[in-house]
Amino acid sequence: MKLSLSASTMAVAACLFATPAAASFESCVKNIRAQVLSAGIKPDVVNAAFKGIAFDEKAVRFSRTQPEYRTAIWDYMAFLVDDLRIADGGKMLRRHDKTLRAVERAYGVDRYILAALWGVESDYGQDEGDFFLPHALPNVACGGRKPGVFTTELIQALRIVAAGDVRLQDLKSSWAGAFGQTQFMPSTYRRLAVDFDGDGRRDTIRSVPDALASAANFLKKAGWQSGLIWGFEVKLPSSYSGPVGRSRKAPISAWAKRGVVRADGSALPSAGSFGLIRPAGASGPAFLVSRNFDVLYSYNAAESYALAIGHLSDRLRGKGGFKTPWPTDDPGLTRAQRKRLQELLIARGYYKGEADGRIGPVTITAIKAAQKKAGMKPTGRPGTRILNVLAGN
Ligand code: CA
Repeated sequence: MKLSLSASTMAVAACLFATPAAASFESCVKNIRAQVLSAGIKPDVVNAAFKGIAFDEKAVRFSRTQPEYRTAIWDYMAFLVDDLRIADGGKMLRRHDKTLRAVERAYGVDRYILAALWGVESDYGQDEGDFFLPHALPNVACGGRKPGVFTTELIQALRIVAAGDVRLQDLKSSWAGAFGQTQFMPSTYRRLAVDFDGDGRRDTIRSVPDALASAANFLKKAGWQSGLIWGFEVKLPSSYSGPVGRSRKAPISAWAKRGVVRADGSALPSAGSFGLIRPAGASGPAFLVSRNFDVLYSYNAAESYALAIGHLSDRLRGKGGFKTPWPTDDPGLTRAQRKRLQELLIARGYYKGEADGRIGPVTITAIKAAQKKAGMKPTGRPGTRILNVLAGN
């Protein structure tokens, strides 16, 4: 759940505004602090939350940036559904088997879907977020990004702390305030988080049972239908000119009449209503998606996101990759390949940062320089071709 900036870790930065003067930042924070107090948050919680707050250029920059290029679906999928996340998901399914089965029984949401969502949102609880929520949200609000919305989210977050559910110092988050293993916004947490381990606290940061059950509760409330497949890859007749779009659903019998078959050669489901999506256009893979795909979309409003969760859940179940390749001659990179790319950029003198697999503005600049040197168009995009060039392949 990332306030529509899906794949924000991959999106790249073009700063649009100048930074505000220090004096206006201080008066803005003072104003937000007053709003939080007048919302009824106890002064001791407010004091602790605002202690040491400073202007955070990174939070403001992230809240104001627009991607330099639209992340291609094959980059997005290569990053989110990579071998490491599939392997880690397998381990987590075994380690938390009892919890996942109990949550599945209680909410009727498939445990492989829950594991996939957990893996994408927080890398199975390993990724805490780079920001301290009580400091990031005033920065974002004062930076000009939807000040009312982010002030309200801050107030909701402090209510969660005041209720004793999570500790203030545990509130690591995205720049936008999505926190914990399910990356709920504070207002979503207040509506939908549940205490599943029975300790009386709803702790989606430190409790795996609470986090998984809270995600399941979200999906159930959004209309998840137990036992309904999210969707599946299909092959279309070459002459296909019928409806496209997940909202243009039709019974499976209608799709069979249109000549649609499953890409893996297995039989179509016997019932259900599905819409057709083609995320990369007519020459890429196509999918029939159900109402449950729409439920995944409601968690983070991007079809690419819902597809990543659905596909990762299938991979965790032991199924293979897509049958139709993405229409590109420069495929996207896994997280391990991104690290390798950075190592090569360092070795060739283009990049002085850390090889952490995160493609930020500095890495982008380094990729551009390497692409230029190789006679490629300097897009800054981390792809297979520049990786191969640097590796000497
Ligand atoms: Ca609990």
